[in-house]
This record gives sequence, C-alpha cells and structure tokens, in this order.
Amino acid sequence: MSLEKGFTFQHKDIKLVGYSIAGTTTSVAFPEADVCFDVAQGLPFQIPYPTILITHGHMDHASGLPYLIAMKNMQSQPIPNIYMPEPLMTPMNDIMKIWAKIDQHTYKFNFMKVENGRDYPLKGSYFFRPFPTYHRVPSHGYTIYEKKKALKAEYKSLSPVELGNLRKQGVQLDEHFNEPVLSFSGDTKIEFLEHEQVRKSRILVMEVTYWDQKKSVENAREWGHIHIDELLPRLESLKCEKIVLIHASARYTTKYLQEILEARLPEPQKGRVTLFPRPL
Ligand SMILES: [Zn+2]
Ligand SMILES: [Zn+2]
Repeated sequence: MSLEKGFTFQHKDIKLVGYSIAGTTTSVAFPEADVCFDVAQGLPFQIPYPTILITHGHMDHASGLPYLIAMKNMQSQPIPNIYMPEPLMTPMNDIMKIWAKIDQHTYKFNFMKVENGRDYPLKGSYFFRPFPTYHRVPSHGYTIYEKKKALKAEYKSLSPVELGNLRKQGVQLDEHFNEPVLSFSGDTKIEFLEHEQVRKSRILVMEVTYWDQKKSVENAREWGHIHIDELLPRLESLKCEKIVLIHASARYTTKYLQEILEARLPEPQKGRVTLFPRPL
C-alpha cells in the first residue's frame, strides 16, 4: 500500500480504495460503482474512475483535478464527469484555463454542479444523491444507491414451482427498492448525521478529525469538523453495518487512534466502527 496505490478496505462485498489524513490527502474510490470521492493532490489510483464527486474546495480534497484530468486525457479515456458544489465551478474552470496555457494543451472534462436530494446516474444499477454538509466552504456529502429487486414478502414461503407458475400468469412477484450502499461525508460538522440517507447507509465513511482533549469539541466545530466525543454518543442511533473513520489529523499515529477506539468504544460497537487503513 502506498500513496500512489491507496489503501484497500473491504467489508463483505464492498471494497474501497483510498487514502485520508486531514490537511494532507483525502480521496476514496468505490470501484464497483466506478466512482471516486475527492481527489486530494491527484494520485495514480484515481485515474481509472470515470466519475469524480468533489465534496468541497479545500486543497487536500480537490487540488488534484488538473493532474487527474490531464492523466485521463493523456490515456485517451472517455471525458470524465466531475461533480462539485456549484460555487466551485467558475474558479475550477479558471484553474483549468490557466493550466491549459501553461501546458499548451486543451483539456477535455465535464464539470457539473450538484443539487441536494437529486439523483444522478452512475455505472449499471448505481446512482448517487448529494446531501448537505456543514463545513467552512460550500460542501456536499454523497450517498451511492443501488437499484435492487427482491421477492415480495407474501411470496417468500412459496416453492420454486409455485413461483414459476405465478410468473407464467404474469403476476408481479418482485418489489423494487433503492439500497443506500455507501455514504461519504467529506469534511463537515456532526449535524450531517441527521440525514436519513446517511443513517441508513450500509457503509458510512465519515470524517473524525480530532480525537483527544488537546483539541476540544469547540475547536472541531469552529473549523467545521467532528470530534470523536461527538460521534460516540450517536453510534447507537445509526443503522449502518459499518462506520469507517477517515480524515484524522496528521498529529495522531494510527496506533494511538486504535488505542482510543479500543478504550472508548462500547463493547457492542467494537468491530462496527473502524479506521480506514492509513500509514502507521
Ligand atoms: Zn479536509
Ligand atoms: Zn475541508
């Protein structure tokens, strides 16, 4: 594992690849849906993804766009679709124009604004829906949904033969639903947990920047971030199978963060809450 390749996280059928340390680098890809959240300074592991979702315009999350676009263009990939908060569109376009001058090259990319609550298509049966987050600059989080179907409850006890007969008669046996597979917080204050789509996601990848009393909850809130003291009392109210913590400050070692989790997580939450893999 390295900065170029990212770290791999796996929970059941869900694999993520990324790297996240507050103020340094944050970028996490979800290969199954062909999508990458944030681009840090621009890293090789992001190059295959055709869709990029930018949470906000801080350098450690979004400064890599020119690099990434240039690499994708150079490899003759399809024009990338890059979604972002609306106020970022004009300045990011200006940055791309300046790089085009420096590089004497015309870049191809689609920048698109996002609106909270709207659905946007991704690969196959996946789509995403942005939600509001609360940082120091305009920001969004994103939920990836998968369109699924399942046998209606009233038919679950029937045999395959009986089901086959009903199907032949044209009975609609399946119900369709959208499963919130994964939510990604970006940088935000704790209030983003109020959104139902976040609380019901199978996997929640969320920032916890501050982890001990050297930085208080007030400090965290002032900078638009989350302190571990704010998350712990809310864990029970979250329906997520797994809560994956990113964006811890560079001031902490991984060992120190793991010791804090071990000491402070209530027994039923151990195993459900985990750090995204990061350098030791
Ligand atoms: Zn950040
Ligand atoms: Zn930020």
